[in-house]
Amino acid sequence: MRSGNGETIREPERSIPVYGSTEVLVVGGGPAGVCAAIAAARAGAEVTLVERYGCLGGLSTGGLVIWIDRMTDWEGRLVVGGIGKEITDACAAEKALIGPPPEQWGSKDPKLAAYWGVRTAGHRGIVNFSPTIDPEVLKLILNDMVRAAKVNVLLHSWAVATLCRENKVTGVIFESKEGRFAIKADITIDCSGDGDIFAKAGAVFENDFDGVSAHARLNTSFRFGNVDMRRYLDFRMIHPEQYSTLMREASHEDEWLTNTAFVTPNDTIALFLTPKFSGYSALKVDDLTEVEFRSRDVMRQVLAWYRTRMPGFERAWIHDTASQVGTRHSRRLRGIECVSSKVWRTDGSSVNSIGLCPGLSPEFPTLEIPYGVLLPERIDGVLAAGRNLSCDTTSHAALREIPECWVMGHAAGVGAALAVHSKQTVRSVPIVEIQSELERQGAIVRRQERK
Ligand SMILES: Cc1cc2nc3c(=O)[nH]c(=O)nc-3n(C[C@H](O)[C@H](O)[C@H](O)COP(=O)(O)OP(=O)(O)OC[C@H]3O[C@@H](n4cnc5c(N)ncnc54)[C@H](O)[C@@H]3O)c2cc1C
Repeated sequence: MRSGNGETIREPERSIPVYGSTEVLVVGGGPAGVCAAIAAARAGAEVTLVERYGCLGGLSTGGLVIWIDRMTDWEGRLVVGGIGKEITDACAAEKALIGPPPEQWGSKDPKLAAYWGVRTAGHRGIVNFSPTIDPEVLKLILNDMVRAAKVNVLLHSWAVATLCRENKVTGVIFESKEGRFAIKADITIDCSGDGDIFAKAGAVFENDFDGVSAHARLNTSFRFGNVDMRRYLDFRMIHPEQYSTLMREASHEDEWLTNTAFVTPNDTIALFLTPKFSGYSALKVDDLTEVEFRSRDVMRQVLAWYRTRMPGFERAWIHDTASQVGTRHSRRLRGIECVSSKVWRTDGSSVNSIGLCPGLSPEFPTLEIPYGVLLPERIDGVLAAGRNLSCDTTSHAALREIPECWVMGHAAGVGAALAVHSKQTVRSVPIVEIQSELERQGAIVRRQERK
C-alpha cells in the first residue's frame, strides 16, 4: 500500500442518533469492566456496558489469559473477595477451575509446593490460590452475572469517540454494524484496557514502555489439545533437571521455543501465554497485525518441537488461538494518586483503600490500592479501572493482573453508582461510603492486620 504521506480528507458533517441514556456507562467488558458494571448495578444504578467483541471477559476469555494470578497473600489469606471471588467460585462449581483447596493456601509443605508449583499455584515454595479456569465456561458465567444484575449489554459495539462538555465526560460515540450512535451517561467508566475513553477526553496519560522489558510485550496466546498433561507435569516435577536441560536445548535451537506449557482445568489441554514480542505498540495497527502473524508462526514451530521432544505432547494438536491480542500495557492514566514502586517498598497502606494486591514477593507488603488511581487529575464524569490505571511501570506488572482488575472494576462501579445517586462527582464521594458499599458487596477492602 502507498503511504498517505500526511494527506487528510474531510468527513461530511452529520448528526449522530442517540442510542440511549444511562446513569453509568462502562466501556470494555474485560475483567475490570464486567465487575464495574455488576457492582454499579448492584449498588442501584442503571448500567450499560459497551464491548467491541462478541463475548465478555476481555483477555481473561478472548485473550486466553486463563491463569488468574494470586488471590491470596504469602500467608495464605484470601485478599481478593467480592465479585472476583464469586467468579472463581462459579468456575469451581462448574468444574472449570484448577487450583489448590483453601486448606492448602499458604502451605510450605515441599511436596504440596512442588505439586502446585508445576500447576502455576506454588511460588517461592508457598502454595497460593492462583487458579486456572476455562475460558468458555467463564464466558457463560459472566453472561449469567450481568443478566442477573440487569446490566444492559451491547456487544459488537466499539467506542470510538468521547462526548465531553467543558471538562466533563458525558458519554461516548460507538460504531457498530448498524452505524454510529451516541450514548449519553452521567458517569463513564473506561475499562477499555487501553484508556481509549480518557485519552480521547484529553486526560493526561503515560505510555512509557521501554520496548524491551517483559512489561510491554505483546502476543497472541494459544492452546494445544490431545496432550497427556499428567505425564508432562510429572516429568517436570520428578525430573526438573531433565526439563531444564530440554528447555536449554530449545533455547539454543531458537529463542522462541522456550515457551512453558501451563496447566488448564482439562487434562488434555496445554496453555501457552507466549511468545512475548517486545518493541511493538498495542496502539498501532501495523504492530498488532505483525504480532498476530508472528505469534502463529511461532506456535507452529513450538508445536513441531514439543511433539518431538516434550513428554506428553507426542500427539498434540492446535486446540485454538486467542481471538484477542495479548496486551500487557498501553496507556496508563495519570490519576490523582499513583502507585509507585516506592509505595511497595514501604508500608503499602492507604486510607483510601478500595482493595488489595498481594506483595510482589514475600518481602513486600500486601498493597492497599487507593481509590485515586482510578480518577483522572482534571477531567470529571469518568473513572478508569483495569490495566489502564494510574501507577508506575514496575507496579503495573502486579496491578494489571486479573484479580486486581476485578478489584478496581468493582470499586469503580461502586464509586460511579454512589456519585450518581448522591449527585456528586466521582472524586467527591466520601471514601468511607465507597468502602462500606464495597464491603456490603463482599469485597475485601483492608489488610487483615489493620482491622
Ligand atoms: C499474554 C498475557 C499474559 C498474562 N498473564 C496473566 C496471568 O497469568 N495472570 C493474570 O492475572 N493476568 C495476566 N495478564 C494480565 C491480564 O490479562 C490483563 O492485564 C487484564 O485482563 C486486564 O483487564 P482489563 O479489564 O483492564 O482489560 P482487558 O482484559 O484488555 O479488557 C478490555 C476490554 O475492553 C474492550 N475494549 C477495548 N477497547 C474498546 C473500545 N474502544 N470500545 C469497546 N470495547 C473496547 C476489549 O475488547 C476487552 O474486552 C496477562 C496478560 C497478557 C497479555
